[in-house]
Amino acid sequence: MKYVAVTGGVISGLGKGITASSISRIFKARGVTVTPIKIDPYLNVDAGTMNPYQHGEVFVLDDGTEVDLDLGNYERFLGESLAGSHNITTGKVYRSVIEKERRGDFLGNTVQIIPHVTGEVKRMIREVGETSGAEVTVIEVGGTVGDIESMPFLEALRELRQEVGRQEDMAFVHTTLVPVVGAVGEAKTKPTQHSVRELRSLGIDPDMIVARSTLPISPEIKQKISLFCGIRQENVISVPDMSCIYDLPLHLENEGVGDRLMQILNLPQRPTDLSNWRSFTERYHAAADGVVIGVVGKYAELKDSYLSHTEAFHHTQGNLGVRVKLVWFDAEDLVKDTTLAEQLDTMQGILIPGGYGRRGIDGKMLAIRRARELGIPLLGVCLGFQLAAVEFARNVLGLPDANSTEFDPGSKNPVVDLLREQGKVKDLGGTQHLGSEKVVLTEGTLANRIYGRKDIRERHRHRYEINRDYLARFEEKGFKVSGWAPDGRVEVLEMPEHRFFIGVQYHPEFLSRPEAPHPLYMGLVRAALERKGGANPAT
Ligand code: GLN
Repeated sequence: MKYVAVTGGVISGLGKGITASSISRIFKARGVTVTPIKIDPYLNVDAGTMNPYQHGEVFVLDDGTEVDLDLGNYERFLGESLAGSHNITTGKVYRSVIEKERRGDFLGNTVQIIPHVTGEVKRMIREVGETSGAEVTVIEVGGTVGDIESMPFLEALRELRQEVGRQEDMAFVHTTLVPVVGAVGEAKTKPTQHSVRELRSLGIDPDMIVARSTLPISPEIKQKISLFCGIRQENVISVPDMSCIYDLPLHLENEGVGDRLMQILNLPQRPTDLSNWRSFTERYHAAADGVVIGVVGKYAELKDSYLSHTEAFHHTQGNLGVRVKLVWFDAEDLVKDTTLAEQLDTMQGILIPGGYGRRGIDGKMLAIRRARELGIPLLGVCLGFQLAAVEFARNVLGLPDANSTEFDPGSKNPVVDLLREQGKVKDLGGTQHLGSEKVVLTEGTLANRIYGRKDIRERHRHRYEINRDYLARFEEKGFKVSGWAPDGRVEVLEMPEHRFFIGVQYHPEFLSRPEAPHPLYMGLVRAALERKGGANPAT
């Protein structure tokens, strides 16, 4: 087993996650099996209770673990599904150490950060690496070098390199910022020098520097970083800002990162095949004749909250060759501002993503109603799906008091209600229906047609479901069930009279990948294109 650790310096938000994902991808392009680990130095055990405002989207894995959105990037770049063990948080590590202490596993010893916490970190890393059977484990350490929170993790990685024995079994890649300042646009290496010094003071000698900057850095600046930081010049990699994250694996490959890492790790060079990836990005950039999709959400200001949806549209663009422009509508503003509602009517498609809580639901329902009445293609996801049911009950079935019990626990017409199997809410950690599950699509329906099959698996994250007592009335008025869970939950509702009006209880956004775009997003974009009057691409 070989390891590559990716650390970050100077500031956060340099795209360390995308860098680590891209490194993983270029290993894969060589036929080197790789498994990623994301370390999050926060005390939360998982991301389930985290506010998307602060932290961006909560991503859900097949096994139902709620994780940082970076794990989504790994899945998208690698085209593989990961388990919860690939996300190590301070909370998880401490919980495990404290449980062991309570069981008496430490035989009366004083339990300390070194060696017990660091030991637990190493054990978790090794376990993921070994169970995966991969040749290389890529470990990304969240935060920046020098943060108190990440100290135990960096120490664990230093110890790991010592334990794996040979230098060539573990490489350190350090991502830093090279700011471009002043009127003449001078690239400054000092922050990088300081950051490398800080890393060295922790006993870690980086093998490669990924220098992030707005523009490519010159050979002279590379040479300067090489000299001051004691790193070979060919291991100083320039990564300028890019318009599309999926360009990064190709860029790193051009910069020689793949070959250099193979050399550092003493792995035999193998031919690289990034041809599918390259054609995806070429199509993405060449895409013409775009459609405009409105996204009606609560966190419209913070697009990171809906990252996987945005990526799913990028995947569609790179596969269909149709440019997708997203227009963000704040659900709360939509009910207050009629010009916004008019703008919404001009969209060629509408997405209503998931969410929690009452705020913004009226705006989402307004958008759903416009889509239904004007024939605008609509995809409702999770809360978006549930609200489509509420809107239908209110305005088509004539039940003005219809609601979800999430918003009106005493509703006389609870068309969306707490999950029946689970019934009672215990605590925020354990009450949701989470993770991947089979869904059976009814033959001949739109859902069945766009997926091209009957049996699918999708990821879930919800506490409420469609109340089956109302189904007969829904169906009678033209809102039909086209997908069921094996336990009888309603998973998909669609409106055969409408061009494309479909709601899903699950979260398709988590399964879309550049090399395997999700059928529902492809379907929405195709329908949007039809509405616009454009030709529908065959692929
Ligand atoms: N709040 C809804 C529920 O708990 C929807 C959740 C979601 O959109 N992820 O069922």
